[in-house]
Amino acid sequence: MSCANPIDAPVLADYWLGALRDREEETVEEHLLGCDQCGARLREVIALAEGVRKLARAGSLPMVVSDAFLERAAAAGLRVREYAPPPGGSVQCTVTAEDDILVGRLAANFSAAKRVDLCICDDRGFEQIRLRDIPFNSAAGSVILQQPITYAKAAPSETLIARLFAFDDSGRERLLGEYTFNHTRTLPGPGAW
Ligand SMILES: [Zn+2]
Repeated sequence: MSCANPIDAPVLADYWLGALRDREEETVEEHLLGCDQCGARLREVIALAEGVRKLARAGSLPMVVSDAFLERAAAAGLRVREYAPPPGGSVQCTVTAEDDILVGRLAANFSAAKRVDLCICDDRGFEQIRLRDIPFNSAAGSVILQQPITYAKAAPSETLIARLFAFDDSGRERLLGEYTFNHTRTLPGPGAW
């Protein structure tokens, strides 16, 4: 049995990375449920996980990722370290040599947001990086910020503040939440904090 309408490899790769839009993802998922041939091709894409692992390590910019991305990364054997400070709160965090992916889960109410920006600020609250118009699901209660692991592993102890801003129809900016990450530098040795 061969597939009459095979899914393109780049689409499978995006699916695995969690980069497809919701509706597109559902379509691919449904197709994969019923199609062994495309399932086999997806496994080939997953076999490239080592390449993805390298990408995750080499990535130099913070980015927003999806739950699906984290699930697939974990399924591929990558070690994910996640911190979830409450809005207005802070968390003590670090990263170990064994971690492959470091993320912060930022909880907020996106129901009224037309557009969302994510800012990364220094310990005094000065904006360093702004990710404009990030992908978000208005029904979801959080977005996931991936910090570049190479940077995190080399970083000194420092405090970073993440801020989410929503824009309404009139373009007015409103603070959705502020999250403080008190990072302790990576210490050598197995299981070190
Ligand atoms: Zn197929």
